[in-house]
Amino acid sequence: MCQEECGARCCRYITVILPPPRTKADYDEWSWFLAHENIAIYFTGQWHMEVRTKCRYLDEKNRCAIYERRPDVCREYDVESCEFSGDTEHKLHFETKEEFDRWWEEKRRRERARRKRRAQAAKAKKKKTAARKAKGG
Ligand code: SF4
Ligand code: SF4
Repeated sequence: MCQEECGARCCRYITVILPPPRTKADYDEWSWFLAHENIAIYFTGQWHMEVRTKCRYLDEKNRCAIYERRPDVCREYDVESCEFSGDTEHKLHFETKEEFDRWWEEKRRRERARRKRRAQAAKAKKKKTAARKAKGG
């Protein structure tokens, strides 16, 4: 049984899908999530918060004590594509508030630079149009 090899890791966490962070308030909330123990946030095309906490129905032999009554989410878990049987690399993965803070700062810096480039391009275009009009073109 796979449980014996990995210690039933799939029964030792839950995940919650998060909407992408866009505002300062989102940043602040995620930063707060990551200030807590046993929390990670990662991106796989969708943002997830992982809460590492053991299911209360996992017995001491790493077996499900309510196997017949287990929730659908457990029934639908695909052992073949189990993320613990291979190397799963998340595009982005934060284990600490500091890691997330650094990423957010860099993201904000890139957004500011992009806005500045757009404003400069718009200004240059406006100037060009004004010059053409002045020439009567
Ligand atoms: S499905 Fe994956 S994580 Fe779950 S018990 Fe099997 S090998 Fe471990
Ligand atoms: S209900 Fe059973 S299968 Fe589902 S997480 Fe708990 S121990 Fe694992």
